[in-house]
Amino acid sequence: MGNPIRDRAMTAGFIETHCHLDDGQFEGERDKVVERALEVGIGMLVSIGTGDGPPDLEAGIRMAEAYAPVYASVGVHPHDAAKATAETWAALRDLAGHPKVLHLGEMGLDFHYDFSPREVQKEVFQRQLELAAELELPIAIHTREAWRETVDCLREVWAGAGSGGIFHCFSGGKAEAEEALALGFHLGIGGVLTFPRAEALRDAVAATPLNRIVLETDAPYLAPAPFRGKRNEPAHLIHTARKLAEVKGVPLETVRETTAGNFLEMVFARKLANQ
Ligand SMILES: [Zn+2]
Ligand SMILES: [Zn+2]
Repeated sequence: MGNPIRDRAMTAGFIETHCHLDDGQFEGERDKVVERALEVGIGMLVSIGTGDGPPDLEAGIRMAEAYAPVYASVGVHPHDAAKATAETWAALRDLAGHPKVLHLGEMGLDFHYDFSPREVQKEVFQRQLELAAELELPIAIHTREAWRETVDCLREVWAGAGSGGIFHCFSGGKAEAEEALALGFHLGIGGVLTFPRAEALRDAVAATPLNRIVLETDAPYLAPAPFRGKRNEPAHLIHTARKLAEVKGVPLETVRETTAGNFLEMVFARKLANQ
């Protein structure tokens, strides 16, 4: 007997685990963008629900309700941490129960832009970690120039929470990859993998078991080669998938089935177990 989730992954297609389909750059073209994703073999997309920040927390859900293959997350991006209010927490808890919401996020710390004060970012990150742990939902982490602080928060607040998650747009080296894996996370691998100067990331990915990797685009940002610098879209995931197959020395189908299975297991294992 196979594992039912891994069996399902055989026919799931590629899973685009992180895109911002609600972004204004897709306005007027969204139907085509989703269509092109399906054409390259993507079977499921997760539209990240951070939008422009609170009070609008439903950006991802709107996309999921408009397109059958699209699922959503809900969360407060570190850039928007200062916009969170008491109402935000009640609303997040409520929206997390939507049938197409698969995880919370993206959440974390961004000390590159510092759009919200660092102390506020930390507090909003920690509260979302607590909420996800309580609801037993996986999480998507955004961390930029704040690796140590992010890992410290996870050790303090998240350690022991069993629902797992993704370091989205992972672009660290081997040491960071090892830390992320030890904390029980998957690496979300996007277009950066294809950049000529991303040798350290490719080394980290080469050393990471394929069953701890998921694919993403972060569209409309971070387009992979040969589209670097242009607007990214979910269909471009295929270029990152090919690079991943090359780095791991496995066929593209293995990348597709394994990364899809990793994501499905993360978001559905608990639901299936509770059925
Ligand atoms: Zn991000
Ligand atoms: Zn993102």
